[in-house]
Amino acid sequence: MRFVVLASGSSGNVSAVWTGDRGLLIDAGTGSSKSIETALREAGLRPEELCGILVTHAHSDHFGRPARIIAKKYGIPVLTHRETYLAACRRSRDLKGMDERGQVRFLKEDADHLHEIFQIRTHSVPHGGEEAGRPLAFVIRCEGRAVFYSTDLGLVPPHLIPAMREADFVLLESNYDEEMEENSPRPPFLKAWVTGPTGHLSNGQAAEALGQVFEPGHGRYPRRVVLGHLSEDCNLPHLAIAAIRPRLPGHVELHVAARHEASEIWDV
Ligand SMILES: [Zn+2]
Ligand SMILES: [Zn+2]
Repeated sequence: MRFVVLASGSSGNVSAVWTGDRGLLIDAGTGSSKSIETALREAGLRPEELCGILVTHAHSDHFGRPARIIAKKYGIPVLTHRETYLAACRRSRDLKGMDERGQVRFLKEDADHLHEIFQIRTHSVPHGGEEAGRPLAFVIRCEGRAVFYSTDLGLVPPHLIPAMREADFVLLESNYDEEMEENSPRPPFLKAWVTGPTGHLSNGQAAEALGQVFEPGHGRYPRRVVLGHLSEDCNLPHLAIAAIRPRLPGHVELHVAARHEASEIWDV
């Protein structure tokens, strides 16, 4: 499998995973469908080869108009939880009616799904209120390889640790540096939400979780970790790396996904 991040952060999230001539988008909440199509082609994935759009939750930086346009243009479904779809429809009239047109396939939480050549395992994560729907983390398997993907979670539930450990490639949120968040001019209610159990993961929380993933004594570990959804004003890539690098074995690759630029293309 191959994996690319096209955008990661509160102004928009799009990633893609693919193998051979079948691929999945993960979230589509930024820019235009045209810019996503162009970025996919540049990464080596033809948009015609997409077979679905996985959507983590209903916030507009993850589920937006590009998802609807790409689903319609290529005749592929959005794959998400029913509550997430309904929450997104309450926010945006643009997305209404996709279910009636067969452009949405509903995923259950904490369950296995088969979609074309991909096995998709969903994991519930705590994030947002009703407006977020039912946020999910994904493990996507194909050809004996596994990708773990989770951004936008207020804490790491225990069941995510073995899910990450069994993946070859992990993309995990590392949203804010605790000190920068504390000292930021954000209003107190926003700080309280971001740092609370349904907000976002701090560098320290991501470090703690990844420390557990790489505890010795387990047979299998990821080979590569990518940190995503970094806050624009309350984090810096070198702070996230400094918090997390010491928790990973030396041979494990660590990267930070950029907010607006495509990453390199990783072989999973
Ligand atoms: Zn987000
Ligand atoms: Zn969110």
